[in-house]
Amino acid sequence: MSDPAMNVPFGRPWITDEDRRAVMEVLDGPVLTHGPKCHEFEHTFSASCGGGESVTTSSCTSALHLAYMHLKTAPGDEVVVSALSHVATVNAIEITGAKPVFVDVDPVSGNMVPALLEQAITPRTKAVALVHNLGIPCPMDDIMAIAQAHDLPVVEDCATALGARWDGTHVGLIGMAGCFSFYPAKHITAAEGGMLLAKSPEVAESIRRIRGFHYDRGLAERSLPGIYDVNGFGMNFRMSELQAALGNSQMGRLPEILQRRADNFAYYRQRLGGLPGIRILDSGHAKSQSSHYTLSVVLEGKAGARRNEALLWLKDHGVGTSVHYPHPLPRLAYYREKYGYDASRFVNAATIADQSVNLPVGPHMDEASLDYVATQFTILLKELQQ
Ligand SMILES: *Cc1c(COP(=O)(O)O)cnc(C)c1O
Repeated sequence: MSDPAMNVPFGRPWITDEDRRAVMEVLDGPVLTHGPKCHEFEHTFSASCGGGESVTTSSCTSALHLAYMHLKTAPGDEVVVSALSHVATVNAIEITGAKPVFVDVDPVSGNMVPALLEQAITPRTKAVALVHNLGIPCPMDDIMAIAQAHDLPVVEDCATALGARWDGTHVGLIGMAGCFSFYPAKHITAAEGGMLLAKSPEVAESIRRIRGFHYDRGLAERSLPGIYDVNGFGMNFRMSELQAALGNSQMGRLPEILQRRADNFAYYRQRLGGLPGIRILDSGHAKSQSSHYTLSVVLEGKAGARRNEALLWLKDHGVGTSVHYPHPLPRLAYYREKYGYDASRFVNAATIADQSVNLPVGPHMDEASLDYVATQFTILLKELQQ
């Protein structure tokens, strides 16, 4: 039944001749980092999102870190954070000395539950850290109402949510800042790289300063070469011109990338949605427009207990899968050992971590590979349920 010639990866970077030319052009010029290509990428990005100011960064991790450096979170502070995300979401809080306070997620979407956010807020809470899980926007009306009632800034991890919108507004433009990733597996890539999107020009300007050593004046503003002062604490979290040229070139294909991901997601849903004993993560909310990072299938009952077997079976049959994420954040050894882990508080995050299989929906998928993945998955599911 399985076709030995088939080998479908979970993701594959899509690099065109135009991308290559854009990078080579930088190498032929005088500016290799933090120059006109970064500015061009920032403008393209804001225009694509429909507003805000964009700040290029070295990664999404550094964009998140910059958000908390701007907020000056510190030991004694707490930040409420979704229990299901990439470790970067919580590491950016941890490095500032603030304490992450994890809350469980909704079983349908994998997103932060507003009522649990509200319960977790204390007088020490300084911010809210959410992630739009796999490109599915969080219920932002409820989350923003709670955050605003407690005067708390919201940092949106949008690493897998480029193109996702809540009630028509692009994610990252709802809270204080949105942080995006251009790691190869994401919607568009710059090899490595990130973007911080802020609706407030003051926040964007503050982040720009911290990103570049907090110099009091840029190269162009220095009347004496090499003479500057440092009027705040900053780091080097900048992006190179090579990365910016690649990212900016890729932005031109974003509408096509989003359309193909949506079509591929819809194809699987049609083929797999009716199968017994599984559920597919989705928002279930009319205001939510997903960016379809992957199609996440949660195996239930007997099959749920055999998830790792399923991953191996699919690998052996040439189907690339992934798991987002292998543990709820508070169950990762570092966080478990530091803060303790109460399994009863993170049941939904643990179910998704332990029982889900994520299927490839990227633009590398053609009709034959989609059909192959859906067919193999259907065969596998029957075997697991026997
Ligand atoms: C990939 C990812 C990150 C990390 O992005 P980098 O650019 O590799 O630092 C953070 N959060 C989420 C949700 C991610 O998927």
